[in-house]
Amino acid sequence: MKAPKQSFISNVTTEDRLDPERFSDWLRLLRVTAWVKRFTDNCRKTNDRNKSRVLTLKELQEVENMFIHKTQVKHYPEEYSCIVKGQPMPRSSKLIPLNVKIDEQDLMRCDTRLTHARFLPYNVRYPIILPRKSPVTRLLVKSFHEAGNHYGTNQTLAAMSSRYWLIGGREEIRDWEKKCSKCKKLKAKVLKQVMAPLPPIRLKKSMRAFANSSVDFAGPFLTKQGRGKVRQKRYLCLFTCLSSRAVHLKIAFGLDTDSFLNAFYRMSSRRGFPEEMYSDNGTNFVGAYNELLELYEQMDKQKITEKANNHRIKWHFNPPLAPHFGGVHESMVKSAKRAIYAVLNSADITDEELLTAITGAEGLINSRPISYQTSHPKDDTVLTPNHFIHGQIGGQFTPEAVDSTVFNVKKRWRYVQEIVKHFWHRWLREFIPTLSNRKKWHQETRDLKVNDVVLVIDADKSRGEWSLGRIVALHPGN
Ligand SMILES: [Zn+2]
Repeated sequence: MKAPKQSFISNVTTEDRLDPERFSDWLRLLRVTAWVKRFTDNCRKTNDRNKSRVLTLKELQEVENMFIHKTQVKHYPEEYSCIVKGQPMPRSSKLIPLNVKIDEQDLMRCDTRLTHARFLPYNVRYPIILPRKSPVTRLLVKSFHEAGNHYGTNQTLAAMSSRYWLIGGREEIRDWEKKCSKCKKLKAKVLKQVMAPLPPIRLKKSMRAFANSSVDFAGPFLTKQGRGKVRQKRYLCLFTCLSSRAVHLKIAFGLDTDSFLNAFYRMSSRRGFPEEMYSDNGTNFVGAYNELLELYEQMDKQKITEKANNHRIKWHFNPPLAPHFGGVHESMVKSAKRAIYAVLNSADITDEELLTAITGAEGLINSRPISYQTSHPKDDTVLTPNHFIHGQIGGQFTPEAVDSTVFNVKKRWRYVQEIVKHFWHRWLREFIPTLSNRKKWHQETRDLKVNDVVLVIDADKSRGEWSLGRIVALHPGN
């Protein structure tokens, strides 16, 4: 069969080459189409060709109207022909409530109830109808969304309503917002994974508190010196027992390795030298103070490790940029701060008052229950970290040491050992099961893989400035 003869010009229609589907920018589509249209128009003319170097608003408007008209006819062919013929629209048509009219540019417009509001612009009274899920609508939504600085759905819809009537507008805009890469960046959430099983060190049964501890810093607290004109910064050094969750709070008088080691010695002399110590590496400290960051950076890790080795302490530094490693002391620092501010009445305090407050806070935190308090009178009293430190709930109670029997050191020692053993047994029976459930991060999500593109959180920068990263290697933990 012979193909029908067609001229070259009539064969090349604008939709063949300038398909809105192939464009990502509305204005660009309009400009390119307008230039092509001018060229073909000029080709048809022998004289009076348009040789201007800029496009006029009229040319752009014509092209825009052409695209909108085509998309309207494509999506609502029946409705369009009905209106042209002056017939009623099919009953199933979605356009019936819009009272559609066709204007001089062949555009379907919605005849709103604002016909008589002559003070309003024409486009507001008769907005142009845009079908859903058409490339033209998508490009228009995108241009309005970007012109409005990626604002919310309502703002974009309001801005568009001054000219267009979007069928299913809100959904259409939301669809685009889900695709917009800048919005994705702005709304990105931190990657979560199912809570990891507790590290073995947290479950290690030891006969004394602070055998396995972690340390963290908080502060600064300002204290007044002498007559109160000079202020000094003091830092909270928080030691947490990884098994009993008991805390020991010390003040560091400065931000240097020696000051930290002094605080550490004061703690170990009272609680005994730990067997294993965990501390942060630097960037993942709990407080939001740059000074603390400096401390960790300046901290002489080698010196700490050497000093620790002298006392047969195994010192572990948590990896940098991994705040989830410090979960156990993160919550403790929070409670310590809360307790200190609860104990401190005035903001203007001396070193002595701060010391008292910190010791008070320590007592408060260590008397919090770590096991479930039952309502049965025959059950044991609730277990607190203080039970592991001095065998009772807190310092407020009278000691149970008043004893009429003959004092025998050896017997006494055995008795104390028995009590301690009893507490550790309860710890194993009552406290450890409470750790078994995952309070957050329950859902297993896909693990990151090599070549995944991620947004790297940088606490010092605003979200818009976070850099994009590609994962090159993975170091999976247990
Ligand atoms: Zn956006």
